[in-house]
Amino acid sequence: MLEDHLKLLRDYCVNCGLCLKECEFMGKVFESPNSMRDQLEAGYSKESMKVPYSCTLCGFCEAFCPSELNIGKVVLEIRAKMVDEGQGPLPVAKKFVEIDQNRVASDEFAISLLDPDAQKSGDVFFPGCNLSGYSPEIVIKVYDYLRSKLPGTGIMLGCCGNPTLELGETEKFQGILRNLESELEKMGATRMILACPYCYYTFKHFGAKFEIISLYEFMTEHGLPENAITGSSTFSLYDSCRARWEFGMQDSVRKIITDLGHGIEEMRYSRELTRCCGMGGGISYADIRLQKTMTRNTVAEAEHDLITYCATCRETFSSEKRAMHVLDLVFNPDWETALSNPARKPSEARENQTSLRAQLVEKFGK
Ligand code: SF4
Ligand code: SF4
Repeated sequence: MLEDHLKLLRDYCVNCGLCLKECEFMGKVFESPNSMRDQLEAGYSKESMKVPYSCTLCGFCEAFCPSELNIGKVVLEIRAKMVDEGQGPLPVAKKFVEIDQNRVASDEFAISLLDPDAQKSGDVFFPGCNLSGYSPEIVIKVYDYLRSKLPGTGIMLGCCGNPTLELGETEKFQGILRNLESELEKMGATRMILACPYCYYTFKHFGAKFEIISLYEFMTEHGLPENAITGSSTFSLYDSCRARWEFGMQDSVRKIITDLGHGIEEMRYSRELTRCCGMGGGISYADIRLQKTMTRNTVAEAEHDLITYCATCRETFSSEKRAMHVLDLVFNPDWETALSNPARKPSEARENQTSLRAQLVEKFGK
């Protein structure tokens, strides 16, 4: 509840000013801790709505604030209140998020498929819409790998609904989640295997019905594919902001990279202190310049080619530096080319999602 978060801020903020120094959003919009608290308490109007929509909701503040205060949580509650009062969300964000959320829930992308040899699938792989838009080839190879390790595993294409949640449209988001859960129930699912840190965060905190495991922890438990290619490169490893407190996922990604023979440069801001890639919270709809600054500041910390386990982060970084997804390293024999690939245009990502669905139907549809 917004009131609870504001009370925490009132009671425990010690005016140290660290958040204004460390976070580009805070430093840009607030002059002092006092004015920050006053503005958040007072709320925003339609005219000043861009401010709460310029926070990436990344949670970095919670990791360095001496009182562990998470301004992103306050901002998300402010967005939800503005929606409840008929003021929000930011119109441009609403327009594009709505179009995309409707599309990924339609026959252009969404589908649930059982393993063709099974009557039900206790384990279901949920690659998420961003990884599907990034590389249908990787999703299919991961699914083949999962079925080889765990026969009977099903697959579900869809979106976890996080973009709707971040708009502040809580009720609509709950509807998306309930639809996904009902599809999963029909499949006989008891556990979801998740590749995207954003999906993992969303299902962990808002969808309590099913057990979840990250694909990376699954891979360290069950072993890498036999034909995974080894090498001896060194990468700067970027932890997604949504994996900030997921130490098991973080460790697994590190183990996958080093088991393949590669080295890792730990960035100054990593693990719980990781900074946002710049794309969180729908900030690009509110303040594209701030988004670019955040991306550049994060990339500037990396000495080597970047590697990450969030497709959105990979695509965002690729405008500034060579970057790839850790699943490229495991499943893409041509990963050195993938490092230099530009980000997919939105139309290409959409085509990839639709093509993935068609390939899965052809291969596994009954
Ligand atoms: S870092 Fe935390 S304690 Fe310091 S000013 Fe910001 S909110 Fe207050
Ligand atoms: S959630 Fe991220 S962007 Fe928002 S205030 Fe905290 S550190 Fe800044």
